[in-house]
Amino acid sequence: MFVTFEGIEGTGKSTQIKKVREYLESKGRDVFLTLEPGGSRVGRELRKMLLHVDNRDITPITELFLYLADRAQHVAQVIRPELDAGKVVLCDRFADSTIVYQGYGRGLDTKTLRELNEVAVDGLWPDLTIVLDIDPEIGLKRAMLRNIEDGKAKEEGRFEAEHISFHNKIREGYLTWAAFNKDRMRVVNADNSPEQVFERIKEILDERLAA
Ligand code: C5P
Repeated sequence: MFVTFEGIEGTGKSTQIKKVREYLESKGRDVFLTLEPGGSRVGRELRKMLLHVDNRDITPITELFLYLADRAQHVAQVIRPELDAGKVVLCDRFADSTIVYQGYGRGLDTKTLRELNEVAVDGLWPDLTIVLDIDPEIGLKRAMLRNIEDGKAKEEGRFEAEHISFHNKIREGYLTWAAFNKDRMRVVNADNSPEQVFERIKEILDERLAA
């Protein structure tokens, strides 16, 4: 089973992914955790580039191809082999991030993005995608606090620097895109305690595991 997690910054994705991992392992599943960008060796180099580059110094198309390159390598070298080995793969961001950030966010055509994603994923779409949803004002505050607590200066801070209207567009993009893909994508309200958010995710997972 391949499960991906999506959402704007500060939704608590990584906390929830850890909880999901513990839950599935407690049910005897073998779990493999990964992320995008940066889930493969080549991808880690691409991630450094993507996180350091100044937005004004990269065109949306160039950025898109870097994300797609990361994904193609990740699927071929990591995700598919782990699934073939019988593991449940949990991935922090995947193809939907491209549709939402590069499409709804940066204005690239979503139909073209869908086709390019198709090339990158080579037929491997998630069985389930959890979209954590939160008001960007709250999400960004959380993300900033977390970075301060982690002492993670601004090395990954270019994203937070985006205007709030950009994050609102991303949030709306996720909701629109999830509505088009109801079978696979499930929206979960992330403006609750981590335990409450997890309870909802657990219900969705249990439903899938029973199916
Ligand atoms: O998952 P994480 O928060 O580390 O992602 C870092 C940032 O990368 C996101 O908040 C988003 O701004 C950006 N991103 C992007 N396009 C993607 C994936 C991520 O702009 N396809």
